[in-house]
Amino acid sequence: MSFRATILTLYPDMFPGHLGLSLAGRALERGDASIEPVNIRDFATDKHRSVDDTPAGGGAGMVLKPDVLASAIDAVSPEGDTRPRLLMSPRGRPLSQARVRELAEGPGAVIVCGRFEGVDQRVIEARGLEEVSIGDYVLSGGEPAALILLDAVIRVLPGVMGNAASGTHESFETGMLEHPHYTRPQVFEGREIPAVLTSGNHKAVDEWRVAESLKLTRARRPDLLAEKSPGEARGKPPPQLQGEQILLRPAREQDVADRLALGRDREIVHMFGSELAENDSYSRLEAQRFIDGLGQHPHAWVIEHEGRFLGEIRLDDIDRQDRRARLAVGLFDPGRLGQGLGREAIMLVLNHAFAKMRLHRVDLRVLSYNTRAIRCYQACGFREEGRERQAALVGGKWHDDVIMGILAPEFRAA
Ligand code: SAH
Repeated sequence: MSFRATILTLYPDMFPGHLGLSLAGRALERGDASIEPVNIRDFATDKHRSVDDTPAGGGAGMVLKPDVLASAIDAVSPEGDTRPRLLMSPRGRPLSQARVRELAEGPGAVIVCGRFEGVDQRVIEARGLEEVSIGDYVLSGGEPAALILLDAVIRVLPGVMGNAASGTHESFETGMLEHPHYTRPQVFEGREIPAVLTSGNHKAVDEWRVAESLKLTRARRPDLLAEKSPGEARGKPPPQLQGEQILLRPAREQDVADRLALGRDREIVHMFGSELAENDSYSRLEAQRFIDGLGQHPHAWVIEHEGRFLGEIRLDDIDRQDRRARLAVGLFDPGRLGQGLGREAIMLVLNHAFAKMRLHRVDLRVLSYNTRAIRCYQACGFREEGRERQAALVGGKWHDDVIMGILAPEFRAA
């Protein structure tokens, strides 16, 4: 299916403009997208073919007439046309990469380009026009704005960009500005390419890029990072619990960046019973959702180590009647496993669960092949209570879930 754009304009000669060249030009040639400009003036009814009139209430400039514009819209977009109708307008919702992607996934768009002072309000309402702005400045007409919108849409259509992956790491796609780029020569006017980029260490390169992205975004567009703080929708946060090497505390906005930087590790994902797809990347949106989720959970803590987010620990399914809960814990840095940090977190939470929350029993489930975790839980005093046979299908094979539990008197005795 190709993306079909119909443009209503007083200057059809402005199209396809720059979109006839380069990447978009090839997409138009192949038929991946089409751009059809239609002259609004063709729908004028008087002998002067007038399309505008003076503003009601007085004032400068002219206003596009509603009747003429409505006829034009009805002619190009009859009933049953599912394409969204956009009106380029500085009063519109600012165009975002997310909206661009959405449009690219659809059948196309009918785009109205304003001129003069703008468009009669009644046609906006009567024809359900979605006002879209390309930024906080005023152009003399909607045509360049429409060209910009179409440029952004066409480049993300399937098959348009040579290297598909090069679309997804860009500015805004991750919720951040992109890191700086370098290419040969190695030295330019005495300035070197940062050494990490030529080191051949892909992990280090990725880490550098995320760190640079964050630095740039904080400096130039802190608004992108400040969406909403994770604690906003929550009731009373869980209390901070201080250990020797770690601190358990409620989630905060800064954790999103740290969680994002840790990404998804194949081994760790496997221990939770999932398989990581090839080049499966962890997005800022996922990180944001994850931290938001912790922030809204009444008994979830961030495991902080050396001042940074390292993992999470939660008491789920709390049953006040039977005074029991289910424990879940996750560390996301493979380099920090086996150092007793998870164990310390569990002991802090068990102490809180039994001493402060007056629970009687805490249990958990763990995949039978996750022997490292099982040893850790045993060291904390959990006992194996049973198995759910073939409870998880991982990588095409069935695996048992081990059920483990610890009771308050056992914890006190230990
Ligand atoms: N008087 C209007 C501006 C009219 S500018 C106002 O103050 O809101 C004329 C036309 O240019 C508009 O109808 C719109 O189609 C287009 N235009 C101007 N600035 C734009 C922007 N930032 N984004 C999208 N379209 C814009």
